[in-house]
Amino acid sequence: MKRLSVFGATGSIGQSTLDLVRRNKDLYCVKVLTGGRNLDCLVRNALEFRPEFVVTAHDDCYQELNEMLSHTDIKVAAGANGINEAASVQVNWAMSAIVGAAGLEPGLRAMQAGANLALANKESMVAAGPLMRQTSRENDVALLPVDSEHSGVFQALIGEDRKAVERVILTASGGAFRDWSLEEIAAATPEQAATHPNWDMGQRVTIDSASLFNKALEVIEAKELFDLKPKQVEVLVHPQSMIHALVGFQDGGLMAHIGPADMRHAIGFALNYPNRSYLPVERLDLAKIGQFDFSAPDLEKYPALRLAYDVLDLGGFSGAVYNAAKEIALDAFIAHRIGFLDMAKIVEAVLERIFVKNISKENNFCLENILNMDHIGRTYAREEIEKNSKYL
Ligand code: NAD
Ligand code: MG
Repeated sequence: MKRLSVFGATGSIGQSTLDLVRRNKDLYCVKVLTGGRNLDCLVRNALEFRPEFVVTAHDDCYQELNEMLSHTDIKVAAGANGINEAASVQVNWAMSAIVGAAGLEPGLRAMQAGANLALANKESMVAAGPLMRQTSRENDVALLPVDSEHSGVFQALIGEDRKAVERVILTASGGAFRDWSLEEIAAATPEQAATHPNWDMGQRVTIDSASLFNKALEVIEAKELFDLKPKQVEVLVHPQSMIHALVGFQDGGLMAHIGPADMRHAIGFALNYPNRSYLPVERLDLAKIGQFDFSAPDLEKYPALRLAYDVLDLGGFSGAVYNAAKEIALDAFIAHRIGFLDMAKIVEAVLERIFVKNISKENNFCLENILNMDHIGRTYAREEIEKNSKYL
């Protein structure tokens, strides 16, 4: 039996992962489940899968979770320390599906404990790509992309000569505001941004899809995962979200990964890797779909994307700063403190500050330095939000 941990089990990716595990219970033994404040879901899953260890991210939820599981022999813990302890439990495969930079350390620890890491948490690669790759190499474990675009690229590269890769094209649906004017987007509310035309995802990643911050993070993620140069990563708007990514080779051939907008394909691919097994996703009827559309992304409407390329040029720790500043700006947007387009303005101001101070350039990618730069990004972003009354 394959031993599994699921970090962020109560989220959209976590629940899709457990849906696949549930369908083949005799193949898997779930050792760890972690979640946040959604204790009903966490406990329901704990009673179903009977893991050794269940953790809530919030210290103030510990007592309630402990009481809810007191009639079982399941170990209960809370907080970032509890999650890190759970990440040290030895498993064959771990799903990294916490949202945000909080997913970085558990993923690293899971690899250090010998787990192949299924990586939904793109923020880990954005903030700490070199450290993630080094940790996977040193512990001889696989880093398996779960983001649909990156899973598509990974699959298109199987059996190919990496040196023959000319470019990677990530597709973007265009998010909730694809057909909105710049003026309308400027006035968009968090509620409007939190609906996605094609994918069913968590609130934060859905808003990031509307601003294209999600795609911007994916550009950086692709560069880190597949060791590409900035110019080798392209973004193409494709409203149907069925072509997830394309890989272009030096002979002009393009390999496209096509499938329904269902994350269980990418999750299942990572779960079954290196084999392919049956997955319960819709089979596309291309004749019925009829056509696929494409267009170039509008960088004026989506400044987050332009900034991602600045990050690739800046290098060093700028990815950690970019992601951290974005998380703070997203919190402020969700709290109705700033407008939708202000998120990118704040991130740009923070990037400018680290560029001027020349503090992104260091290249000792240890966890301590990365967390330090993450902290700087958050502090600068909060300062930008406070000092610019125009945002308030
Ligand atoms: P979600 O918001 O639905 O779930 C997030 C999970 O993380 C929950 O279990 C929550 O309790 C936990 N969590 C939140 N903050 C935490 C913290 N500070 N510490 C520990 N745990 C915390 O998110 P999601 O949509 O499942 O996305 C998870 C990750 O996968 C993100 O990095 C996202 O970008 C990536 N991703 C998601 C999708 C998708 O379709 N949902 C697709 C591609 C990539
Ligand atoms: Mg994606």
